[in-house]
Amino acid sequence: MLKIYIDGKLYDKEDAKISVFDHGLLYGDGVFEGIRMYNGKIFKCVEHIDRLFESARAIGIRIPMSKKEVIKAMEDTLKVNDIKDGYVRLLVTRGIGDLGLDPKLCVRPSVVIIADKIQLYPPEIYEKGLELITAATPRNHQEALSPRIKSLNYLNNIMAKMEGHQANVREVVMLNLDGYVCECSADNILLVKNGVLKTPPASAGILKGITRDTIMEIAHESGTEVREENITRFDLYVADEVFLCGTAAELIAAVKIDGRVINDGKPGPVFKELLGKFRELV
Ligand code: PMP
Repeated sequence: MLKIYIDGKLYDKEDAKISVFDHGLLYGDGVFEGIRMYNGKIFKCVEHIDRLFESARAIGIRIPMSKKEVIKAMEDTLKVNDIKDGYVRLLVTRGIGDLGLDPKLCVRPSVVIIADKIQLYPPEIYEKGLELITAATPRNHQEALSPRIKSLNYLNNIMAKMEGHQANVREVVMLNLDGYVCECSADNILLVKNGVLKTPPASAGILKGITRDTIMEIAHESGTEVREENITRFDLYVADEVFLCGTAAELIAAVKIDGRVINDGKPGPVFKELLGKFRELV
């Protein structure tokens, strides 16, 4: 039976419950992280914990634990569930309040840790790549709600993903309100053109993905020029390679976007090299 951590205690999965008055449920008022464990080691642990605390700070939540305590709780939860290769979902909610949205009435934020097996994309997707469409739903404006905050309110991304379902594709490209490419509904996006790896800058209004940072670092170390710059749909259509990356997906090639076949329609050499090096790293 899976054990779930809630505010310092471990509960059986069936008994792991939080109040219907928690503002995480009532308003999506909270933040989260998705983290991988490979071979008994938490991948990019410090980076994820730092981002969790920054997300919380950005929305004025004081996590009632130190970073060290959160890491210890995460390690304990993984251990008790005997998980060496898996996925951790860390959540911090605003906590219990009343039906009004006033966060001041929520006394104590709740910390929840779910450690489980990872649900991977089917293996053929890594060999053949994915088809994408551009969603009509724009990424929410960063001054309205910064995508840098990994908040519990993912409706913007869900609305875009639903457009993907309508079009029978698994992922979608989201643009910002200036029409530049931001990211996918749950992954960052990168392209290769004439040997240069390009990805939208954080200022385009994206979640600054930890896998994205890792891939840029790997590419830089292997001598590839890496640029963070604004990307248009045109740039995607005429790219030599396009791929997405994220904690759960790792690296997946996009071989068709809005009906345009990217290059020869197969995952490209830079993608293959980066995926190989990423897998070596983890
Ligand atoms: N963008 C969005 C909107 C995400 O939800 C995620 C995480 N799944 C990413 C990008 C990738 O971030 P990371 O590499 O840190 O998982």
